[in-house]
Amino acid sequence: MPTARTDLEATGFTSRDPVDDRVVATFPTDDEATVRHKTDRARDAARWWDALGHDGRRTRLLAWKRVMTRRRAEIIDLLGRENGKVRADAVIELSVTLAHVDWAARNAHRVLRRRKMPSGLLMLNQASTLEYKPYGVIGVIGPWNYPVFTPIGSLAYALAAGNAVVFKPSEHTPACGKWLTDTFAEAVPEHPVLQLTTGAGPTGAALCASGVDKIAFTGSRATGARVLAACAPSVTPVLLELGGKDALVVAADADVEAAVEAALWGGCANAGQSCTGIERVYVAEAVHERFLTRLTHRARQIHARQDFGPITMPGQLDIIRRHVQDALDRGGRALVGGPDSIRPPYVLGPIVLADVPEDSAALREETFGPVLVVNRVRDAAEGVRRANDSPYGLGAALFARRGTTALARSIRSGMVSVNDVMAFPGVPSLPFGGVGASGFGRIHGADGLREFTVPHAVTRRRFPAPLAVSTYARGA
Ligand code: NAD
Repeated sequence: MPTARTDLEATGFTSRDPVDDRVVATFPTDDEATVRHKTDRARDAARWWDALGHDGRRTRLLAWKRVMTRRRAEIIDLLGRENGKVRADAVIELSVTLAHVDWAARNAHRVLRRRKMPSGLLMLNQASTLEYKPYGVIGVIGPWNYPVFTPIGSLAYALAAGNAVVFKPSEHTPACGKWLTDTFAEAVPEHPVLQLTTGAGPTGAALCASGVDKIAFTGSRATGARVLAACAPSVTPVLLELGGKDALVVAADADVEAAVEAALWGGCANAGQSCTGIERVYVAEAVHERFLTRLTHRARQIHARQDFGPITMPGQLDIIRRHVQDALDRGGRALVGGPDSIRPPYVLGPIVLADVPEDSAALREETFGPVLVVNRVRDAAEGVRRANDSPYGLGAALFARRGTTALARSIRSGMVSVNDVMAFPGVPSLPFGGVGASGFGRIHGADGLREFTVPHAVTRRRFPAPLAVSTYARGA
């Protein structure tokens, strides 16, 4: 991902408003020694936090949620100034964030507590227990596109599981990241259970090498691969939440009007800068004309500034322009917008492309802008085959009336929304994550809680005499 919105110097950097380039905040660049010091402090805090038990942590995490709710105006303002979000996008981001803190706080005990396990006939003499214990200290590295919601999928679940966390927000949204750690410190002032570390890539690399017990990384595929390599020598476990190229498949029996609205929302929310944003649409030929006519009409009613914000990173506009131009050069058609509707810092409205060859960059690489490529397919089954022909596999969506269970199951991705788009991030009980180039491991839900734990198995012999007859039992 391009980096051009911060002034990176040896000791400090600034974040800027993507619309008018005004400085929003200045932060220090943490070096290796500073990051290591924070990780060391976190280790002591982790012992205190773990000893509180699930009840103690639930109370404190719910207090955190109350502080965040009370201080919501600050973050809605910051999401606008530092990230460029329109108010509706900022409010949605905060609401989903609070839902996850609540779910993680209330469900950690149920999912992770010590429990008896059946020992089986062969081991009847053993009482078996299983407990999910925290790792200790988790390093969380976040992206800029959802600077509050995205890290909370790691922070809330890692904390609820009993870990301390050192959190590095994106260098483009450090003030949003600081709001998370400040509100936590207000709710839990006793120990540095959640600390902020700021800086760009080198600070992230320092966090990977600082002795943390696990890294939870959300960002691009290229950086994810670097994080994986950096963690390999110390065999530090890694959770990777990477990019996507989500497809929407529209079947012949779909509610076409609803599918059009969903495509626009999935493609344009947050100006298309969503890892699970809809970038490809495969429409069954029976409804293809109707879908395109309706989509063209509705897309012309949606405008930047009012419905979605700017493209946060200037360099991203070049990527969007390259994908759109390449699609047109290869014979694709622009039905709404085109290269001319890219005027920094905005894409002025949705860009709708049709009949784009499958090997175009606009269908293979993450575009990260409000661009919908709509291609005709024979039926939903062919739509699914095309959807699956991608290195990525994060989310997907399907509009159909019949056969939805089998169709949804045949999509190669971590998540699918049926007759909706991007519904899954808002359901805290469901695991969130991808397959293939979209990464591995899960945030959210019970799987997200367990992701930040080590399963700890204990067997306890019930009777002094072993039941098994062995050489040792006979005392031979
Ligand atoms: P990025 O990879 O450029 O940066 C992500 C983070 O990694 C930043 O904090 C950055 O400072 C840090 N970093 C950079 N180099 C590093 C290094 N060598 N070692 C450790 N950390 C390093 O990504 P971005 O541009 O901030 O975010 C956009 C990307 O994130 C898109 O690809 C998007 O799809 C993806 N994303 C994925 C999810 C998900 O849940 N799967 C959610 C949101 C965004």
